[in-house]
Amino acid sequence: MIRPILKMGHPALRQVARAVDPKELATSEVQLLISDLLLTMRENHGAGLAAPQVGEGVRICVAEVKENPRYPELGTLPERVWVNPVVHILSPEPTVTMYEGCLSVPGLRGRVIRPAHIRVDSLDRSGTPQRDEFLGAIAAVVQHELDHLDGILFVDRAESATLTFLDELMDHVPSEQRLIVRGISPPH
Ligand code: ZN
Repeated sequence: MIRPILKMGHPALRQVARAVDPKELATSEVQLLISDLLLTMRENHGAGLAAPQVGEGVRICVAEVKENPRYPELGTLPERVWVNPVVHILSPEPTVTMYEGCLSVPGLRGRVIRPAHIRVDSLDRSGTPQRDEFLGAIAAVVQHELDHLDGILFVDRAESATLTFLDELMDHVPSEQRLIVRGISPPH
């Protein structure tokens, strides 16, 4: 089922989500929520979606990034489901600077600078511990999703003077400034 996505201003987006008990994770209700998150993310062409965005205050998020010819630097991310994720910043360098957007903040973008080398420890949807490491722009996408579990939106992290509507971004910010990864040497 495609679920309605809450928009900025809804108080549920500002709450800290609670951890999911492994027994609860096995229930059909939570499994259905995960399937709905994946479906709702794809239907809305999002790179990720967190449970609080559909009004469920649990620590679950999903992400998937397919090859995007407009943003080849972004890379790809196969379907991921994170339950009770914990992010570890592996290094303050490199950094990714990206005009982020959010399905809960439609039409708006803002420039956020984040560490670009992280590790995420979590459970998959079957409750098995998993560890992911991300280096590059995808690391920003992942941190954006995980922020939702703590009631944080990208507008909180964006430099306020960079907040811009999508049409204006396309008209006034050159594409090479919309996504910048610093500190990763190109492969030889
Ligand atoms: Zn978001």
